[in-house]
Amino acid sequence: MTSVNAPKKTIAFAAPLLGEEEYAAADAVLRSGWIASGPNVLALEAELSTYFGGRPTRVLTSETAALEVALQVLGIGAGDEVLIGAQTFFSSGNMVEKVGAKSVFVDVDLKSRNIDLADAERRVTPRTKAIIPTHYAGLACDMDALYAFSKKHNLRVIEDAALAVGSRWKGVPIGAFGDIALFSFHPNKNITTIEGGALVCNDVADAKRVEVLRFHGISRLPDQTRDVDFPGGKFNMSDVSAAIGRAQLKKLDAFCSHRRALAGHYLAHLATFLPAELLPHAGHVGHETGHSWNLFAIRLPLTRLKYARPQIMDAMKARGVATSVSYESPHLTSLFRKQGWKAGDLPNTELIADTTLTLPLHAGLTTEDVNFVCDSLAAVLRDAQ
Ligand SMILES: *Cc1c(COP(=O)(O)O)cnc(C)c1O
Repeated sequence: MTSVNAPKKTIAFAAPLLGEEEYAAADAVLRSGWIASGPNVLALEAELSTYFGGRPTRVLTSETAALEVALQVLGIGAGDEVLIGAQTFFSSGNMVEKVGAKSVFVDVDLKSRNIDLADAERRVTPRTKAIIPTHYAGLACDMDALYAFSKKHNLRVIEDAALAVGSRWKGVPIGAFGDIALFSFHPNKNITTIEGGALVCNDVADAKRVEVLRFHGISRLPDQTRDVDFPGGKFNMSDVSAAIGRAQLKKLDAFCSHRRALAGHYLAHLATFLPAELLPHAGHVGHETGHSWNLFAIRLPLTRLKYARPQIMDAMKARGVATSVSYESPHLTSLFRKQGWKAGDLPNTELIADTTLTLPLHAGLTTEDVNFVCDSLAAVLRDAQ
């Protein structure tokens, strides 16, 4: 071989951004002799609590674990119904089913992709106990309307804020007010603990219950033996993860402002060849900076193209750009089709699921990378005309 191909540029759709601080923190914990839950878990919980306005905060092995525990803390089970904003990941429906309750999916607004409270209103019954809205892509739900709705119907709120670490509503961090808020620290989220999640609540008694439920349901008796009154899980975070999370938390605001700058660049560039209604919503008028932009998901003009989405994704991949689908319609999975959910039940959710494409967005990207993604997409869409 005499010729060598130039290395092809490849851009991941999501990636953690770890540095010397995280490596040093993990190294120190590994050498300390205390690597499971310990002082770093307590310190991370205290630091997160400060970030969330002093509210009681506990960390777990994932947000999915936090969802299961939150439902258990609220005593939700057989005979109860839970409203779920359908533009979300599979975990909400899974955990509602796992505790024995019924998942009632709610359609979303086409522009914000957040829960449509008018549709939620139609689905409330006397058995409805809670609502799980997702702050899609990092854009806060309309919190005034959400909490007015939950108050009117006497519902507990479990905010799925997996995508909203660092997001704000009217300047206040998501998680710093409201009912229960859950966060994910999966590597694709705004900060990472490798795997991990957090549960923020209003009540120290609830936080104590979370501690029991995340660790086998064990409580300690005065005679130094242990008791179990509920079959708890095993969801405690390791100190290695917590130490990484503490280093990441210090960088959260910088990560979010970089993500916002990249998203702004995407919006300006994509507007030159895509209609506005296919671009993600930048935020509520007056407080645009509240969006933390965990995901940047456009909709494809598929009816005007000769290629379907898998071919578009393959063509992007061939140009070195990874893309993803965030998310499929949860009510149309086999699990929920068996319960009678069918295509047509949630028109906006389904239209989004059928046409959405998540473009790369993470704290390690540059504006040149964003230009490269946009130019690649423009070329792929031109070929697909
Ligand atoms: C990532 C994600 C979850 C699950 O988080 P884990 O920490 O991986 O369990 C739940 N909901 C949404 C919207 C997510 O994006």
